[in-house]
Amino acid sequence: MSTFLVRNASLLATFDDQEREIADGGLFVRDGFIELVGPTAEMPDSADEVLDLAGHVVLPGLINTHHHFYQTLTRAVPAAQDANLFNWLVTLYPIWARMQPEDIYVSTITALAELALSGCTAASDHLYIFPNGSRLDDQIQAGLDFGMRLHASRGSMSLGESQGGLPPDSVVEDEDFILEDSQRLIEQYHDPNPGSMTQVVLAPCSPFSITGDLMKASANLAREYGVQLHTHLAETEDEEQFCIELFGHRPVAYMDQVNWLGSDVWFAHSVHVNNDEINQYALTGSGVAHCPNSNMRLASGIAPILKMLTFGVKVGLGVDGSASNDSSHMLGEVRQAMLLSRLAAGLEGASLSGEDGSPLMTARQALRMATRGSAAVLGRDDIGSLEVGKCGDFFAVNLQQLNLSGALHDPLAALVFCAPVTADYTVVGGRFIVKEGHLTTVDLQPHIEKHNERAKRLLE
Ligand SMILES: [Zn+2]
Repeated sequence: MSTFLVRNASLLATFDDQEREIADGGLFVRDGFIELVGPTAEMPDSADEVLDLAGHVVLPGLINTHHHFYQTLTRAVPAAQDANLFNWLVTLYPIWARMQPEDIYVSTITALAELALSGCTAASDHLYIFPNGSRLDDQIQAGLDFGMRLHASRGSMSLGESQGGLPPDSVVEDEDFILEDSQRLIEQYHDPNPGSMTQVVLAPCSPFSITGDLMKASANLAREYGVQLHTHLAETEDEEQFCIELFGHRPVAYMDQVNWLGSDVWFAHSVHVNNDEINQYALTGSGVAHCPNSNMRLASGIAPILKMLTFGVKVGLGVDGSASNDSSHMLGEVRQAMLLSRLAAGLEGASLSGEDGSPLMTARQALRMATRGSAAVLGRDDIGSLEVGKCGDFFAVNLQQLNLSGALHDPLAALVFCAPVTADYTVVGGRFIVKEGHLTTVDLQPHIEKHNERAKRLLE
């Protein structure tokens, strides 16, 4: 039995159904789960761990729904800086093909460190390339060592260049082996229980790197075990053309054909979707991981996120891989989601009065997407808000800092409108992963040196 008490928070934003924001707020966590949330006056006097958060704003931990941790090794690669998706991929595949198992472990820690310092307590990663003996196990071990909740995707590529796919044949895998390894990973690591630290997801990479047969077989296997399905979809116009030429369908119709629409599926991006397709997402419960920075970086387009929310689609937030962002800052991503949605509204000629019913995404809507929205996308009801019975996952930011100065009349909105800040405390299930602004499970400077050495070797 262990207990954790938060008291005196200047503002505690719950993101519960009532959207309660509690002044002088507190939280009481027992064995990883929230037992009480409310004003400090209603909290017990003591606990095994007591954290006084006077002068701080407290939010549920942010949840990242799409990433490729390994790409932290290939940020800002010169030859891939100014390319669109297909050219960017063709440049990077051969570099990624040099990775070793230790690269997976080291890059995972780097990404988790960045995420934790930006308020993230749960993340999904999409690992789809396994060169030189690399395995998803290397990433899962890093997640456990670090202490963040991880939805590790067993990604895959099976449609090589010689079969009409985009990736070189040297990086694709045998389909029987992909399925065998997926089953092994689910049986070994997947924990579906409340408070789970590790879940396994099946995630064929994209329509242009996977056969229809493997899409169908992955869906069958995932449903046999009750695990989630994930892939990239409708990211670029190139992909749309590819699907029409090779499969005779637009991307979403192709997903329908291979049994990939449902409440256990979420798609990264969905930039190029029409009203009928958005409606299909809503009707089937299929989720979307919105990745605004990556969509801007690769000039992919602007995903119609407000429309998706209006139609009732589950939308979460993702930073995407670090070769197309090139940052894992969750608060930075929340900010870009709000700003990009506003740019889209302006380009569509919306009236910008700032009154109720305004087509402008609000700071709170953007934060809700990164908490409740992301939790729903990952199929979890035990994280995403600060409510009795949910996991004790939260982060806290000291309000007395330059970036937020002059914005304390609305500290919650300040976290989105002002330049992105780092978390002073990030807690997962009542355990610190960031304390007083420092990571508790990683010695950062030596780690950065090791990470840079490994990145250098890949590019040599
Ligand atoms: Zn991606």
